[in-house]
Amino acid sequence: KKKVLSDIEIAQQSTLLPIVDIAKKIGLTEDDVELYGKYKGKISFESIHKLKDHSEGKLILVTSINPTPAGEGKSTVTVGLGDALNRLNKETIIAMREPSLGPTMGIKGGATGGGYSQVLPMEDINLHFTGDIHAISTANNALAALVDNHIHQGNELNIDQRRVVWKRSIDMNDRSLRQIIVGLGGPVQGVPREDGFDISVASEIMAVLCLSQSIGELRKRLGQMVVAYNRIKQPVTVEDLGVEGALTLLLKDALKPNLVQTIEHSPALIHGGPFANIAHGCNSVMATKTALKLADYVVTESGFGADLGAEKFLNIKARAAGKSPDAVVLVATIRALKMHGGQSKEDLQIENLPALEKGLSNLKKHMETLEQFNVPFVIAINKFRADSDHEIHALIKWCENQNKKVSLTDVWAKGGEGGVDLAQKVLEEIEGNKKEFSPLYELSDSLQVKIETIAKKVYGASGVEYTVKARKQLEEFETRGWGVLPICMAKTQYSLSDDPAKLGRPENFTITIRELKPKIGAGFIVALTGEVMTMPGLPKKPAAFGMDVDEDGRAIGLF
Ligand code: ADP
Repeated sequence: KKKVLSDIEIAQQSTLLPIVDIAKKIGLTEDDVELYGKYKGKISFESIHKLKDHSEGKLILVTSINPTPAGEGKSTVTVGLGDALNRLNKETIIAMREPSLGPTMGIKGGATGGGYSQVLPMEDINLHFTGDIHAISTANNALAALVDNHIHQGNELNIDQRRVVWKRSIDMNDRSLRQIIVGLGGPVQGVPREDGFDISVASEIMAVLCLSQSIGELRKRLGQMVVAYNRIKQPVTVEDLGVEGALTLLLKDALKPNLVQTIEHSPALIHGGPFANIAHGCNSVMATKTALKLADYVVTESGFGADLGAEKFLNIKARAAGKSPDAVVLVATIRALKMHGGQSKEDLQIENLPALEKGLSNLKKHMETLEQFNVPFVIAINKFRADSDHEIHALIKWCENQNKKVSLTDVWAKGGEGGVDLAQKVLEEIEGNKKEFSPLYELSDSLQVKIETIAKKVYGASGVEYTVKARKQLEEFETRGWGVLPICMAKTQYSLSDDPAKLGRPENFTITIRELKPKIGAGFIVALTGEVMTMPGLPKKPAAFGMDVDEDGRAIGLF
């Protein structure tokens, strides 16, 4: 029996082309790419400006059902579908998020695809890459230092040090930094106050960077970020502090999309990775738009399931980018469907047709959601080795009975070849599409209407309850003029409801909104439905234990 290679073993056995050669495939020249070594490059602003009048290609969004903790293979299918389209001679670029170092050290499982559908060099992408996240941490912490310095130097803006909302950040899972006290040690050390750290990818700056299409827009959005409230509870912004220029300067290179390649040498832009709970969870608009101008097809993904990632992509990112998907791929695995049907997580490799059938209710809900957005979609079954023929047959038959296109996709084991059928079906959907995309709510709707629309139409909730605090905030935010912003829901990814234990398709439940958080620079209002972790912790046996490096600098044990 053939040994199953790990992701890193497959990646290290692959040969990479110089990134300049990849650039040439998409009509760029050496001058358009700022090299970060031989296999990574950033696309310069000059060359992006030159693309201004190019027409845009078709956009394909990959999403999934509510996942198991191991993930559904969205990134893997995204990469494999991109490779498959290129095999069919359709010029395709993949646009994906860049991984955060925190989870890399913690839980096993990369964010650069898997098996024979990966982006390379995976070690670099999973480690420091081109330094974008470091730049974001630095900008975030420069702002924190400037706020504390402002208070220390006389506090002209009358910032209430008990109401500073801007936190420090580091790209690591470090639970001991969640709540800290700064400024201890007497008058020369600043003003003592409670503070805390978020993981860098949860910083509003990450969301801002991912939604900005130019340096000018980046500066404007950074200026609008709320850092604190003053003594009369009015918001204090970065613009009030006058430091948006400095922050923009720190981020000027981070805003440029990063070009890399897949195992099959398809071009991929890996850029930006905002948290999918506190933020919108998709790669940068810069990367997606640049890819659309350079290729006929762009395959991109959004975080978690269609209830979170795709909803935010369609209601937030599509609006910011002025571009909605021409087709969606809804990834499902037999494992996850069985879990939704009640099979325990430990037994997911055992055949269980009744559990599979029962769990289909989850898939069905996500199909209905995509139909409400009026986007065409194809169901991709991400094939695992343990899936039985009976199970595969039953799932395909169910999809066909629902009159839905479905493709058994095996890109993890076979690379692009395993996704050719999916690619063909996606192309058919795009060709035959007569639907017109419609977001679920209008920006002119009140914040409350927006929240209730998402809860009812996407989650299937019967209603929404608000804490006293959230109710007060709804009113306050509307009077501040923030009511015109879209909502960014923070909810568990495991369930359609706000209770992770409710699997399948829960019914007769309400969603509770605990608190709202204004992210004015990012341009959305976060609605928190439960405890949202903005600084994760490490597990008992962190993945870091298995990592090492050899004398030639090759990574060992990174997935
Ligand atoms: P998601 O994007 O949905 O979180 P990923 O594509 O990152 O999921 O995959 C999560 C993990 O599962 C990766 O380690 C990947 O190698 C593995 N994986 C994905 N698809 C398969 C498959 N069909 N068979 C085996 N492992 C897979």
